[in-house]
Amino acid sequence: MSAIEIRALCRDYGVGRAGDKRTQALSDVDLTVELGEVRGLVGPNGAGKTTLCKILSTVLEATSGSAEVLGHDAATDAAAVRRHIGIVFGGDRGLYGRLNARQNLRFWAAMYGLHGAPLRLRVDELLERLGLADRAGDRVDTFSRGMKQRLHLARGLVGDPRVLLLDEPTVGMDPVAARDFRSLVGEMRAEGRTVLITTHDMAEAEAVCDLVTMIDRGRVLLTDTPSAIGEVV
Ligand code: ADP
Ligand code: ADP
Repeated sequence: MSAIEIRALCRDYGVGRAGDKRTQALSDVDLTVELGEVRGLVGPNGAGKTTLCKILSTVLEATSGSAEVLGHDAATDAAAVRRHIGIVFGGDRGLYGRLNARQNLRFWAAMYGLHGAPLRLRVDELLERLGLADRAGDRVDTFSRGMKQRLHLARGLVGDPRVLLLDEPTVGMDPVAARDFRSLVGEMRAEGRTVLITTHDMAEAEAVCDLVTMIDRGRVLLTDTPSAIGEVV
């Protein structure tokens, strides 16, 4: 069984109003990510990376084709997929600025069915691990971009997922935060998690990924090792 198995995946947007231009965000995408692999999905803005992450995380339906996580189909077995997957979207999406960091994580931990002492322990451990313990009681709208990203990562880990989707995780991070982030990805790998990282920054993908898949205008161009991709002919 693979961690992620995508077959002939297509997604169209804007099939609505007359005169609308249809955007084929994904065209016949095949992608297999093995268990324990750290995979980069690299492409320019508009390539279809976020669309692919949304389909894998069951928040968006494919137009055709299939996407499976640990053998569970994202369309027909969404609950099972959600149990195994953690999602980290870049930017501010999904954090509550008027709650503090601890409250944000408690909320998400409760959504994963944790409560009582195990919930407090898990939240504590994640705050500590991501270097947020001393700011745990501060409102998230006072956080820097890098701190918000770390809180996002903590949130993605709260359900102890076997597969982690990181969509543009280092956007807006300063170099120090980005380096810390890379070592965190190393820890995810050491723990045996499978990680899919989307980025428009090839250098970032080369730094942390086992394999890199290049995507452009909804189509996969190639998959190779970072060193092979780094060779310019
Ligand atoms: P990326 O994450 O690589 O920047 P996206 O998956 O966000 O790419 O977008 C792929 C394509 O689909 C782009 O052309 C984008 O404009 C289009 N698109 C994304 N979301 C929508 C939407 N909700 N409605 C219409 N078009 C969309
Ligand atoms: P207070 O505002 O009452 O002094 P805190 O700001 O420390 O307490 O915590 C706010 C809420 O978070 C309380 O409900 C508290 O029980 C809970 N809490 C405290 N410590 C933790 C922790 N390590 N992990 C999760 N929740 C905690």
